[in-house]
Amino acid sequence: MQTIRPPLPYRALRPWLEARFGKPVRRVSLDQGSDCPNRDGTKGFGGCFYCDVEGSGTGALRAGVDLERQLQAGLARIQRTHPDCAAVAYLQSYSNTYVEPARLDLVLDLLEPHLGSRIVALSVATRPDTLPDWALDRLERLRDRVDVWIELGLESASDEVLRAINRLHTTQEFRASCARVKARGLQLVGHAILGLPGDGREGAVRTAQILREVGADGVKVHQLMVLERTVFANWWRQGRLQVLQPEEYVAWLADFLEHLDPEQVIHRITGDAEPEKLLAPRWPVSKNGIRDLLVQTMHRRGTRQGWAGQHS
Ligand code: SF4
Repeated sequence: MQTIRPPLPYRALRPWLEARFGKPVRRVSLDQGSDCPNRDGTKGFGGCFYCDVEGSGTGALRAGVDLERQLQAGLARIQRTHPDCAAVAYLQSYSNTYVEPARLDLVLDLLEPHLGSRIVALSVATRPDTLPDWALDRLERLRDRVDVWIELGLESASDEVLRAINRLHTTQEFRASCARVKARGLQLVGHAILGLPGDGREGAVRTAQILREVGADGVKVHQLMVLERTVFANWWRQGRLQVLQPEEYVAWLADFLEHLDPEQVIHRITGDAEPEKLLAPRWPVSKNGIRDLLVQTMHRRGTRQGWAGQHS
């Protein structure tokens, strides 16, 4: 017997994509071998304290899998889920506009034959302080053929927290880059992490408020995760860093969603990491379990995404 689930109290990405493109759409992650100014010394060394050496990505290129093979394997994989499945090509690792123009051109040339057919959206993750005009020029040219999403990390609305975790950009830089993305007619996706040290539950609300103010079309949010080979791994081992428990995270996440705009599309509500890399939190609850807890919590509160803006 099929389980009937209550409607989600937030605007989830997958149904939104299916409604927009009229077919299933899945993500194909691509690692183009970019770097990060927060690792190579341009802004700093060592990266954000939660980021592992793969720059939050797959590490496929470093493992010897070139982009063409990554793309073909990804397209074949999603086609196995549904013969008509289309793709969001996702440039995920490191800062994908922190490359030479020729490198981005090469990647876009590779995607070119599939744009508007098998690839219906291109998603480019980068930092707010590494988004040059030449990159926006190139991405803007694709706008009429595919959705172009620029994913910018805010992570926290507090400059003090951003300094303390070595993000090495400010909330003002985030706001300025968001305005440039919106001015080009590109779609803006903002990232947030709940549970960063010093941010607190109020920090989650303030971060949602900034993502709403800048007009982010999409939002990705996840719990602070402590990964091997990060600065936070050392802090956690020394007892200097706490992580959220599932019920706590869900309560903060509900606050966060309530303070967004109801139209913003929620791309993600939890983070993933390979089990061998994840030190904490190791929740006894699956991703679906967190989603179900969230649904129950917001149902109990009588709220949904955007509720705070409609009741203030
Ligand atoms: S900006 Fe991104 S890739 Fe660079 S260190 Fe921070 S999280 Fe990692």
